[in-house]
Amino acid sequence: MAKISINLATGSFQQEEIIVGIDLGTTNSLVAFINPDKNPQVINDTGKGLLVPSVVHFNAQGDALVGNDAKEFLITDPANTIFSVKRLLGRSYKDVAAHQDTFSYKIIDDESDSLVKIKAGDKFYTPIELSAEILKELKARAEHALKTPVNRAVITVPAYFNDSQRQATRDAGKLAGLDVLRIVNEPTAASLAYGLGLDPAQQKTIAVYDLGGGTFDVSVLSIQNGIFEVLSTNGNTFLGGDDFDRAIVYYWIESNKLDKEAVTKDSGLMQSLRLKAEEAKKALSTQSLYNEKLRFDGFEEVKPGEIWCTLDKQTFENLIAGKVAETIASCKLALSDAKLTTAEIDEVVLVGGSTRSPYVKQQVAAFFQREPHDQINPDEVVALGAAIQADILAGNRSDILLLDVTPLSLGIETMGGLMDVIIPRNAKVPTKAGRQYTTSLDGQVNMKISVYQGERDLVRENRKLAEFDLKGIPPMPAGLPKVDINFILNADGILTVQAIELRSGVKQEIDITPSYGLTDDTVEKMLIDSITHAKSDVDQRMLIEARSEGEQLVYTAQRFLDKHASYLSTDEIKNTKIHIENLQQALEKAEKDEILKKADELNEFTRPFAERVMDVAVSAAMKGKSIDN
Ligand code: AMP
Repeated sequence: MAKISINLATGSFQQEEIIVGIDLGTTNSLVAFINPDKNPQVINDTGKGLLVPSVVHFNAQGDALVGNDAKEFLITDPANTIFSVKRLLGRSYKDVAAHQDTFSYKIIDDESDSLVKIKAGDKFYTPIELSAEILKELKARAEHALKTPVNRAVITVPAYFNDSQRQATRDAGKLAGLDVLRIVNEPTAASLAYGLGLDPAQQKTIAVYDLGGGTFDVSVLSIQNGIFEVLSTNGNTFLGGDDFDRAIVYYWIESNKLDKEAVTKDSGLMQSLRLKAEEAKKALSTQSLYNEKLRFDGFEEVKPGEIWCTLDKQTFENLIAGKVAETIASCKLALSDAKLTTAEIDEVVLVGGSTRSPYVKQQVAAFFQREPHDQINPDEVVALGAAIQADILAGNRSDILLLDVTPLSLGIETMGGLMDVIIPRNAKVPTKAGRQYTTSLDGQVNMKISVYQGERDLVRENRKLAEFDLKGIPPMPAGLPKVDINFILNADGILTVQAIELRSGVKQEIDITPSYGLTDDTVEKMLIDSITHAKSDVDQRMLIEARSEGEQLVYTAQRFLDKHASYLSTDEIKNTKIHIENLQQALEKAEKDEILKKADELNEFTRPFAERVMDVAVSAAMKGKSIDN
């Protein structure tokens, strides 16, 4: 992508900036670019390898070390060596608490929903700062290898990343000195690497199966007119090749008749066994038997000796069959969410190191009934696709739009704590939607706007993303202000909420960086909950609506009596008050049908009065007088 152009002012040659593509992974990260032959290529900074382990180590002075050098400290200084930071991006302690034991470093719980912090040495770091360290290293490597400054990048994220996680990724890029031109979904990038979507005439449905070291996800995409759309995603953020390694370790502990409790307590021995297990797993991707010995120094009452690390292909496949079946179950769910059958999938793309295991490949091929694309190195495919996306953004390719869908509905709280959906779940992004609201009290000058994400009818069952006040609405009677609320969800999946009072032009806008994120398990749970509670939600919604209507009617009727009593007879006033009281009693009892009945009665009774006032108003207006409303 390096283009040479002539600076017309000076007449000198100048090199155009290179935009890199970055795969910021849980285990490893990579940076790629389009080489002068117009092919995507992962940058290999002399001798340092293509993969940069996503590991950050802090020494006593607080200096950061990233990559393979940092990985060494995982054993010698685990408390100050941060790995898997991607799992913490945009998350609260509550979100990750259940998995605290999988992290060797300290995650800080400040007993709030705010974002987690990580302690290393005597300092606290946010996941954004830690991700920025990794990105800085990638930037430096790219600059060193390409011998040119690198300031702009495309960064990939899993398709299921929510607004908060996307924003956190963008912020990390900014902190690393990178202008992040686009956040792209990993499955979209992988498809691009295979050239899928580059031909605008192509119409395809693609399943991208991504099984890495610690995470699994599957996405169903469709491409139409060069536009990518994520139809559905599914997965498990705690399932991957590491589980395979663990299964092998426990198999060896058993086959060598070792004391499981004693061995698992010896972290050094466990680590050596894990490394051997990974070696065995990789070997079994090309051979049918692995047979090695592991010497160990002994522990507690166990004498030093040797562990036979023997594993044949069939046993390995039996060990991992359950986990692989889980991934296939996710594929099924993703298809049913996208309302598609396997026969409707045109292409299957494999991503992630664990798809190198032939058993995984076979199971995926068998499920989708087609051979998956596996020609490109599954570790590199996302970064290569990101480089292609960078190239598209640099204007070097025909315009290709990347479209995604939002996994959960977005809306605001309305009367009685009801969720008013503005952008429904699975809406294509970028998208913009809005609705008009008004005030419920006379002279109301502020309006609280609370933004939620979720499928339930009551906001308290959903997740609050943000809250702000639209201030400075000029005092007007209830119902008169016109407040337009617009939701703008951009291509990165980041939400901007705008509120504007049309009569006065008072405006307020926020970009939502949710106070904490959602795990994909939570998304799934929220969806399931919305189905299980559908009936009770409807009942509750109807009651709340009846109540709000009733309360509003009591308010209006009382206001009417205050202002226009002179138009009514004493009896009419008395009976109106009785009807109001009846309605108030029904409201207290919270009986939907009774509220509606009493509201109807009050309405019926007072309708002629309203007409009477209107008539007077009209005739007064015709006489050139005005009457206050
Ligand atoms: P990723 O997160 O995509 O880098 O994938 C890393 C995972 O892929 C780790 O669990 C590796 O052990 C696994 N992996 C790497 N190479 C192979 C291989 N040849 N066969 C099976 N698994 C592999």
